[in-house]
Amino acid sequence: MKRKRKERPQRPRGIRPESLMMSFGYRPEWSEGAVKPPVFQTSTFAFRTAEEGKEYFSYAYGLKERDPARPMGLIYSRLNNPDLDILEHRLNLWDEAEASAVFASGMAAISTSFLALVGIGEAIVFTRPVYGGTDYLLEHILPDLGIPTREIAAGAEPEVFEEICRELEEAGTPCKLIFVETPANPTTVLTDIAATTDVAHRFGALCAVDNTLLGPLYQQPLAHGADLVLYSATKYLGGHSDVVAGVALGSEELIERVKLYRTILGSMLDPHSAWLLLRSLETAKLRMTCARKNAERIARWLAAHPKVARVYFPGLLEARRQKEIYEAQCSGPGALMSFELANAGEPEAFQFLNAVRLMKLAVSLGGTESLVEHPASMTHADVPADEQAAIGITPGMVRLSVGIEHPDDLIDALDEALEQVGVELDQPEATPV
Ligand SMILES: *Cc1c(COP(=O)(O)O)cnc(C)c1O
Repeated sequence: MKRKRKERPQRPRGIRPESLMMSFGYRPEWSEGAVKPPVFQTSTFAFRTAEEGKEYFSYAYGLKERDPARPMGLIYSRLNNPDLDILEHRLNLWDEAEASAVFASGMAAISTSFLALVGIGEAIVFTRPVYGGTDYLLEHILPDLGIPTREIAAGAEPEVFEEICRELEEAGTPCKLIFVETPANPTTVLTDIAATTDVAHRFGALCAVDNTLLGPLYQQPLAHGADLVLYSATKYLGGHSDVVAGVALGSEELIERVKLYRTILGSMLDPHSAWLLLRSLETAKLRMTCARKNAERIARWLAAHPKVARVYFPGLLEARRQKEIYEAQCSGPGALMSFELANAGEPEAFQFLNAVRLMKLAVSLGGTESLVEHPASMTHADVPADEQAAIGITPGMVRLSVGIEHPDDLIDALDEALEQVGVELDQPEATPV
Protein backbone atom coordinates (compact mmCIF):
# COMPACT_ATOMS: atom_id res chain seq x y z
CA MET A 1 0.00 0.00 0.00
CA LYS A 2 1.36 3.40 -0.90
CA ARG A 3 1.32 5.56 2.24
CA LYS A 4 0.37 9.17 1.64
CA ARG A 5 2.95 11.80 2.53
CA LYS A 6 2.08 13.55 5.75
CA GLU A 7 0.79 17.07 5.37
CA ARG A 8 1.88 20.06 7.40
CA PRO A 9 -0.41 20.33 10.43
CA GLN A 10 -2.86 23.24 10.19
CA ARG A 11 -3.43 25.24 13.30
CA PRO A 12 -7.05 24.87 14.44
CA ARG A 13 -8.65 28.30 14.61
CA GLY A 14 -9.56 29.79 17.95
CA ILE A 15 -7.63 27.30 20.08
CA ARG A 16 -4.90 28.70 22.30
CA PRO A 17 -1.31 27.38 22.24
CA GLU A 18 -1.52 25.92 25.77
CA SER A 19 -4.46 23.78 24.65
CA LEU A 20 -2.54 22.47 21.66
CA MET A 21 0.78 21.65 23.34
CA MET A 22 -0.31 18.10 24.19
CA SER A 23 -1.39 17.07 20.70
CA PHE A 24 -0.52 19.42 17.85
CA GLY A 25 1.42 17.92 14.96
CA TYR A 26 1.30 14.32 16.18
CA ARG A 27 -1.26 11.53 15.84
CA PRO A 28 -1.14 8.37 17.99
CA GLU A 29 -1.90 6.16 14.96
CA TRP A 30 1.53 7.07 13.58
CA SER A 31 3.20 5.25 16.48
CA GLU A 32 1.24 2.18 17.62
CA GLY A 33 -1.33 4.36 19.40
CA ALA A 34 1.27 5.91 21.72
CA VAL A 35 -0.34 9.03 23.23
CA LYS A 36 3.04 10.73 23.37
CA PRO A 37 5.40 10.85 20.42
CA PRO A 38 8.28 8.41 20.88
CA VAL A 39 11.90 9.53 20.85
CA PHE A 40 12.93 8.86 17.25
CA GLN A 41 16.46 7.92 18.26
CA THR A 42 17.66 7.16 14.76
CA SER A 43 20.29 8.73 12.55
CA THR A 44 18.80 7.67 9.21
CA PHE A 45 15.41 6.87 7.65
CA ALA A 46 14.56 4.08 5.20
CA PHE A 47 13.03 5.05 1.85
CA ARG A 48 10.16 2.87 0.67
CA THR A 49 11.43 2.93 -2.88
CA ALA A 50 14.42 4.25 -4.78
CA GLU A 51 12.07 6.70 -6.50
CA GLU A 52 11.06 8.11 -3.12
CA GLY A 53 14.72 8.51 -2.09
CA LYS A 54 15.42 10.37 -5.32
CA GLU A 55 12.39 12.64 -4.75
CA TYR A 56 13.38 13.49 -1.16
CA PHE A 57 16.93 14.35 -2.20
CA SER A 58 15.72 16.51 -5.06
CA TYR A 59 13.84 18.65 -2.52
CA ALA A 60 16.66 18.62 0.05
CA TYR A 61 19.14 19.93 -2.53
CA GLY A 62 16.64 22.36 -4.02
CA LEU A 63 16.79 20.62 -7.42
CA LYS A 64 12.98 20.55 -7.52
CA GLU A 65 10.38 23.02 -6.23
CA ARG A 66 8.63 21.55 -3.18
CA ASP A 67 4.94 22.03 -2.38
CA PRO A 68 5.28 24.13 0.83
CA ALA A 69 2.18 22.42 2.27
CA ARG A 70 4.14 19.16 2.42
CA PRO A 71 7.05 18.81 4.83
CA MET A 72 10.37 17.55 3.56
CA GLY A 73 10.64 13.75 3.50
CA LEU A 74 12.73 12.15 6.24
CA ILE A 75 16.29 11.41 5.10
CA TYR A 76 18.84 11.78 7.90
CA SER A 77 18.62 13.33 11.39
CA ARG A 78 21.01 16.19 10.64
CA LEU A 79 18.40 17.43 8.10
CA ASN A 80 15.25 16.61 10.06
CA ASN A 81 13.66 14.16 12.47
CA PRO A 82 10.04 13.67 13.61
CA ASP A 83 10.75 14.92 17.16
CA LEU A 84 12.30 18.10 15.76
CA ASP A 85 9.43 18.55 13.30
CA ILE A 86 6.73 18.19 15.98
CA LEU A 87 8.63 20.51 18.32
CA GLU A 88 9.01 23.15 15.61
CA HIS A 89 5.30 22.98 14.74
CA ARG A 90 4.39 23.53 18.41
CA LEU A 91 6.89 26.35 18.89
CA ASN A 92 5.39 28.14 15.87
CA LEU A 93 2.09 28.39 17.74
CA TRP A 94 3.42 30.45 20.67
CA ASP A 95 5.02 33.14 18.52
CA GLU A 96 2.52 32.83 15.65
CA ALA A 97 5.46 32.17 13.37
CA GLU A 98 5.30 30.62 9.91
CA ALA A 99 8.32 28.45 10.59
CA SER A 100 11.05 27.65 13.10
CA ALA A 101 14.28 25.72 13.49
CA VAL A 102 15.55 24.10 16.68
CA PHE A 103 19.22 24.00 17.59
CA ALA A 104 21.68 22.32 19.94
CA SER A 105 21.83 25.51 22.07
CA GLY A 106 20.77 29.13 22.12
CA MET A 107 24.25 30.06 20.88
CA ALA A 108 23.87 27.58 17.99
CA ALA A 109 20.59 29.28 17.02
CA ILE A 110 22.16 32.74 17.21
CA SER A 111 25.46 31.96 15.46
CA THR A 112 23.87 29.83 12.72
CA SER A 113 21.25 32.53 12.01
CA PHE A 114 23.88 35.28 11.83
CA LEU A 115 26.03 33.27 9.41
CA ALA A 116 23.01 32.38 7.28
CA LEU A 117 21.63 35.91 7.02
CA VAL A 118 24.70 38.19 6.94
CA GLY A 119 27.48 38.02 4.38
CA ILE A 120 31.13 39.07 4.49
CA GLY A 121 31.37 42.88 4.32
CA GLU A 122 27.82 43.35 5.64
CA ALA A 123 27.42 44.64 9.19
CA ILE A 124 25.48 43.72 12.32
CA VAL A 125 24.31 46.40 14.76
CA PHE A 126 23.49 45.15 18.27
CA THR A 127 22.30 46.39 21.65
CA ARG A 128 24.53 46.12 24.71
CA PRO A 129 24.48 44.50 27.23
CA VAL A 130 23.81 41.22 25.43
CA TYR A 131 24.29 37.65 26.60
CA GLY A 132 28.02 36.94 27.15
CA GLY A 133 28.35 34.32 24.39
CA THR A 134 26.57 36.57 21.90
CA ASP A 135 28.82 39.43 22.95
CA TYR A 136 31.95 37.38 22.24
CA LEU A 137 30.59 36.28 18.87
CA LEU A 138 29.80 39.88 17.88
CA GLU A 139 32.88 41.46 19.38
CA HIS A 140 35.52 38.95 18.23
CA ILE A 141 34.51 36.05 16.01
CA LEU A 142 32.31 37.77 13.41
CA PRO A 143 34.66 40.77 12.90
CA ASP A 144 37.54 38.28 12.44
CA LEU A 145 35.48 36.61 9.71
CA GLY A 146 34.94 39.95 7.95
CA ILE A 147 31.54 40.87 9.38
CA PRO A 148 31.85 44.28 11.07
CA THR A 149 29.69 44.89 14.14
CA ARG A 150 28.61 48.05 15.98
CA GLU A 151 27.11 48.27 19.48
CA ILE A 152 24.38 50.57 20.72
CA ALA A 153 23.26 50.96 24.34
CA ALA A 154 20.11 48.97 25.14
CA GLY A 155 17.09 51.24 25.21
CA ALA A 156 18.52 53.60 22.58
CA GLU A 157 16.03 55.61 20.54
CA PRO A 158 15.54 54.85 16.82
CA GLU A 159 17.54 57.95 15.80
CA VAL A 160 20.67 56.38 17.30
CA PHE A 161 20.19 53.19 15.28
CA GLU A 162 19.54 55.31 12.21
CA GLU A 163 22.75 57.27 12.64
CA ILE A 164 24.88 54.12 12.95
CA CYS A 165 23.14 52.52 9.95
CA ARG A 166 23.85 55.64 7.89
CA GLU A 167 27.52 55.61 8.94
CA LEU A 168 27.82 51.94 7.99
CA GLU A 169 26.20 52.61 4.62
CA GLU A 170 28.65 55.44 3.92
CA ALA A 171 31.55 53.21 4.95
CA GLY A 172 30.51 50.66 2.31
CA THR A 173 29.59 48.02 4.90
CA PRO A 174 25.79 48.32 5.03
CA CYS A 175 23.93 47.05 8.07
CA LYS A 176 22.24 43.75 7.20
CA LEU A 177 20.93 42.85 10.66
CA ILE A 178 19.96 44.73 13.81
CA PHE A 179 20.10 42.38 16.79
CA VAL A 180 18.19 43.38 19.91
CA GLU A 181 18.11 41.67 23.29
CA THR A 182 15.18 43.07 25.24
CA PRO A 183 14.85 43.24 28.20
CA ALA A 184 18.61 43.59 28.60
CA ASN A 185 20.28 41.35 31.14
CA PRO A 186 20.79 42.05 34.07
CA THR A 187 19.44 45.62 34.04
CA THR A 188 16.11 44.81 32.30
CA VAL A 189 16.35 47.93 30.10
CA LEU A 190 13.80 47.67 27.25
CA THR A 191 14.45 48.48 23.59
CA ASP A 192 11.53 49.44 21.30
CA ILE A 193 11.12 46.50 18.90
CA ALA A 194 8.70 48.16 16.43
CA ALA A 195 10.74 51.38 16.13
CA THR A 196 14.05 49.52 15.77
CA THR A 197 12.57 47.19 13.14
CA ASP A 198 11.35 50.24 11.26
CA VAL A 199 14.88 51.60 11.07
CA ALA A 200 16.26 48.21 10.00
CA HIS A 201 13.74 47.92 7.17
CA ARG A 202 14.44 51.45 5.93
CA PHE A 203 18.10 50.46 5.52
CA GLY A 204 17.27 47.13 3.87
CA ALA A 205 18.28 45.21 6.99
CA LEU A 206 16.51 42.57 9.07
CA CYS A 207 15.66 42.87 12.77
CA ALA A 208 16.28 39.88 15.06
CA VAL A 209 15.21 39.80 18.71
CA ASP A 210 16.59 37.54 21.45
CA ASN A 211 13.37 36.91 23.37
CA THR A 212 14.82 34.49 25.93
CA LEU A 213 14.10 36.63 28.98
CA LEU A 214 10.35 37.18 28.55
CA GLY A 215 9.53 34.22 26.33
CA PRO A 216 6.57 34.06 23.97
CA LEU A 217 4.16 34.36 26.88
CA TYR A 218 5.13 37.95 27.66
CA GLN A 219 6.59 39.29 24.41
CA GLN A 220 5.98 38.38 20.77
CA PRO A 221 8.54 40.25 18.64
CA LEU A 222 7.13 39.02 15.29
CA ALA A 223 3.82 40.74 16.08
CA HIS A 224 5.79 44.00 16.39
CA GLY A 225 7.39 43.59 12.99
CA ALA A 226 10.64 41.79 13.87
CA ASP A 227 11.85 39.35 11.21
CA LEU A 228 13.46 36.75 13.43
CA VAL A 229 12.99 35.64 17.04
CA LEU A 230 15.75 33.76 18.81
CA TYR A 231 15.62 31.80 22.06
CA SER A 232 17.85 29.97 24.37
CA ALA A 233 15.34 27.16 25.01
CA THR A 234 17.67 26.21 27.86
CA LYS A 235 15.81 28.85 29.87
CA TYR A 236 12.00 29.25 30.14
CA LEU A 237 11.01 27.05 27.19
CA GLY A 238 12.95 24.09 28.60
CA GLY A 239 12.23 25.34 32.08
CA HIS A 240 13.77 22.59 34.20
CA SER A 241 17.50 23.36 33.93
CA ASP A 242 18.05 19.93 32.41
CA VAL A 243 18.40 20.59 28.69
CA VAL A 244 20.47 22.93 26.48
CA ALA A 245 18.67 24.01 23.27
CA GLY A 246 17.89 26.96 21.01
CA VAL A 247 15.23 28.15 18.56
CA ALA A 248 14.96 30.57 15.62
CA LEU A 249 11.51 31.57 14.34
CA GLY A 250 10.38 33.68 11.39
CA SER A 251 9.00 33.49 7.85
CA GLU A 252 9.23 30.28 5.78
CA GLU A 253 11.72 32.01 3.54
CA LEU A 254 14.11 33.13 6.30
CA ILE A 255 13.94 29.88 8.23
CA GLU A 256 14.62 27.87 5.08
CA ARG A 257 17.88 29.82 4.69
CA VAL A 258 18.72 29.31 8.37
CA LYS A 259 17.95 25.56 8.15
CA LEU A 260 20.32 25.12 5.21
CA TYR A 261 23.12 26.47 7.39
CA ARG A 262 21.94 24.33 10.32
CA THR A 263 22.20 21.23 8.13
CA ILE A 264 25.67 22.06 6.85
CA LEU A 265 27.10 23.35 10.14
CA GLY A 266 25.45 20.45 11.99
CA SER A 267 24.06 22.68 14.75
CA MET A 268 20.63 20.97 14.98
CA LEU A 269 19.04 19.69 18.18
CA ASP A 270 19.15 15.96 18.98
CA PRO A 271 15.93 13.89 19.15
CA HIS A 272 16.08 13.21 22.88
CA SER A 273 16.46 16.90 23.81
CA ALA A 274 13.64 17.70 21.38
CA TRP A 275 11.48 15.16 23.19
CA LEU A 276 12.35 16.76 26.55
CA LEU A 277 11.31 20.14 25.15
CA LEU A 278 8.00 18.71 23.92
CA ARG A 279 7.33 17.68 27.51
CA SER A 280 8.42 21.12 28.76
CA LEU A 281 6.11 22.97 26.38
CA GLU A 282 3.05 21.25 27.88
CA THR A 283 3.64 23.20 31.10
CA ALA A 284 5.21 26.36 29.64
CA LYS A 285 2.24 28.55 30.48
CA LEU A 286 1.74 27.03 33.94
CA ARG A 287 5.39 27.41 34.88
CA MET A 288 5.87 30.87 33.47
CA THR A 289 2.66 32.18 34.98
CA CYS A 290 3.59 30.87 38.42
CA ALA A 291 7.17 32.20 38.22
CA ARG A 292 5.92 35.59 36.99
CA LYS A 293 3.39 35.90 39.84
CA ASN A 294 6.07 34.95 42.36
CA ALA A 295 8.46 37.48 40.82
CA GLU A 296 5.89 40.29 40.96
CA ARG A 297 5.40 39.70 44.68
CA ILE A 298 9.10 39.35 45.41
CA ALA A 299 10.04 42.47 43.42
CA ARG A 300 7.54 44.58 45.40
CA TRP A 301 8.75 43.06 48.66
CA LEU A 302 12.43 43.70 47.82
CA ALA A 303 11.71 47.28 46.73
CA ALA A 304 10.27 47.99 50.19
CA HIS A 305 13.17 46.40 52.08
CA PRO A 306 15.51 48.90 53.80
CA LYS A 307 18.64 46.95 52.78
CA VAL A 308 17.70 47.02 49.09
CA ALA A 309 18.60 50.23 47.24
CA ARG A 310 17.06 49.41 43.89
CA VAL A 311 15.19 46.67 42.05
CA TYR A 312 15.52 46.17 38.29
CA PHE A 313 12.39 44.44 37.02
CA PRO A 314 10.19 45.18 33.99
CA GLY A 315 7.22 45.24 36.38
CA LEU A 316 8.72 48.12 38.39
CA LEU A 317 9.79 50.59 35.70
CA GLU A 318 10.15 54.23 36.60
CA ALA A 319 11.24 56.10 33.45
CA ARG A 320 8.30 57.27 31.33
CA ARG A 321 9.75 56.12 27.99
CA GLN A 322 10.57 52.67 29.40
CA LYS A 323 7.00 52.34 30.69
CA GLU A 324 5.73 53.30 27.24
CA ILE A 325 7.79 50.56 25.59
CA TYR A 326 6.61 48.06 28.19
CA GLU A 327 2.96 48.91 27.54
CA ALA A 328 3.47 48.63 23.78
CA GLN A 329 5.33 45.34 23.53
CA CYS A 330 5.21 43.34 26.78
CA SER A 331 2.23 41.54 28.27
CA GLY A 332 3.99 40.63 31.53
CA PRO A 333 7.27 41.29 33.37
CA GLY A 334 8.66 37.73 33.34
CA ALA A 335 10.49 36.36 36.35
CA LEU A 336 14.06 37.64 36.12
CA MET A 337 15.17 40.59 38.24
CA SER A 338 18.28 42.17 39.70
CA PHE A 339 18.60 44.21 42.86
CA GLU A 340 21.22 46.32 44.44
CA LEU A 341 21.98 46.00 48.13
CA ALA A 342 22.13 49.37 49.89
CA ASN A 343 25.63 50.74 50.52
CA ALA A 344 27.06 47.39 49.50
CA GLY A 345 30.08 46.16 47.59
CA GLU A 346 31.17 42.69 46.60
CA PRO A 347 31.74 41.46 50.21
CA GLU A 348 28.14 42.25 51.20
CA ALA A 349 26.73 40.80 47.98
CA PHE A 350 28.74 37.64 48.65
CA GLN A 351 27.48 37.56 52.26
CA PHE A 352 23.97 37.54 50.88
CA LEU A 353 24.68 34.92 48.20
CA ASN A 354 26.43 32.61 50.67
CA ALA A 355 23.66 32.99 53.24
CA VAL A 356 20.56 32.53 51.11
CA ARG A 357 18.72 29.23 51.60
CA LEU A 358 16.41 27.43 49.16
CA MET A 359 17.81 29.21 46.09
CA LYS A 360 20.79 27.74 44.27
CA LEU A 361 23.85 29.90 43.67
CA ALA A 362 24.15 29.35 39.92
CA VAL A 363 24.06 31.16 36.59
CA SER A 364 21.36 30.49 33.97
CA LEU A 365 17.69 31.30 34.52
CA GLY A 366 14.16 30.31 33.65
CA GLY A 367 14.07 26.98 35.50
CA THR A 368 11.52 25.73 38.02
CA GLU A 369 14.02 26.45 40.81
CA SER A 370 15.07 29.92 41.93
CA LEU A 371 18.68 30.85 41.17
CA VAL A 372 20.83 33.72 42.40
CA GLU A 373 24.16 34.97 41.06
CA HIS A 374 26.54 37.96 41.08
CA PRO A 375 26.64 39.60 37.61
CA ALA A 376 29.77 41.72 38.25
CA SER A 377 31.98 38.71 39.02
CA MET A 378 30.11 35.93 37.21
CA THR A 379 27.88 36.34 34.11
CA HIS A 380 29.29 39.76 33.24
CA ALA A 381 32.84 39.31 34.60
CA ASP A 382 34.39 39.95 31.18
CA VAL A 383 32.74 43.38 30.89
CA PRO A 384 35.39 45.96 31.94
CA ALA A 385 34.66 47.73 35.24
CA ASP A 386 34.04 51.16 33.67
CA GLU A 387 31.61 49.63 31.19
CA GLN A 388 29.92 47.68 33.97
CA ALA A 389 29.41 50.96 35.81
CA ALA A 390 28.09 52.64 32.66
CA ILE A 391 25.41 49.98 32.12
CA GLY A 392 24.48 49.84 35.80
CA ILE A 393 26.18 46.62 36.93
CA THR A 394 27.57 47.35 40.38
CA PRO A 395 29.51 45.14 42.83
CA GLY A 396 26.49 45.20 45.17
CA MET A 397 24.10 43.83 42.54
CA VAL A 398 22.52 40.39 42.74
CA ARG A 399 20.51 38.72 39.96
CA LEU A 400 17.56 36.52 40.86
CA SER A 401 15.73 34.11 38.56
CA VAL A 402 12.49 33.34 40.35
CA GLY A 403 11.18 29.77 40.20
CA ILE A 404 7.89 28.11 41.06
CA GLU A 405 8.42 27.54 44.79
CA HIS A 406 5.85 28.97 47.23
CA PRO A 407 6.39 32.74 47.23
CA ASP A 408 6.22 32.95 51.05
CA ASP A 409 9.06 30.46 51.34
CA LEU A 410 11.14 32.45 48.87
CA ILE A 411 10.46 35.69 50.73
CA ASP A 412 11.37 34.05 54.06
CA ALA A 413 14.65 32.86 52.55
CA LEU A 414 15.45 36.33 51.15
CA ASP A 415 14.51 37.97 54.43
CA GLU A 416 16.81 35.71 56.46
CA ALA A 417 19.70 36.23 54.05
CA LEU A 418 19.25 40.01 54.02
CA GLU A 419 19.30 39.99 57.82
CA GLN A 420 22.79 38.52 57.69
CA VAL A 421 24.14 41.21 55.38
CA GLY A 422 26.13 43.73 57.42
CA VAL A 423 25.49 47.02 55.64
CA GLU A 424 25.23 50.49 57.14
CA LEU A 425 21.69 51.71 56.74
CA ASP A 426 21.01 55.37 56.09
CA GLN A 427 18.90 55.82 59.23
CA PRO A 428 17.09 59.10 59.59
CA GLU A 429 18.61 61.09 62.52
CA ALA A 430 16.82 60.22 65.73
CA THR A 431 14.77 63.20 66.77
CA PRO A 432 15.65 64.37 70.29
CA VAL A 433 12.72 64.09 72.61
C1 LIG B 1 21.42 31.64 27.92
C2 LIG B 1 21.21 32.68 26.91
C3 LIG B 1 21.71 32.54 25.61
C4 LIG B 1 22.56 31.37 25.18
O1 LIG B 1 21.85 30.18 25.22
P1 LIG B 1 22.53 28.73 25.41
O2 LIG B 1 21.35 27.82 25.35
O3 LIG B 1 23.24 28.73 26.73
O4 LIG B 1 23.47 28.55 24.28
C5 LIG B 1 21.43 33.53 24.70
N1 LIG B 1 20.71 34.62 25.05
C6 LIG B 1 20.22 34.79 26.28
C7 LIG B 1 19.43 36.01 26.60
C8 LIG B 1 20.45 33.83 27.26
O5 LIG B 1 19.98 34.01 28.50
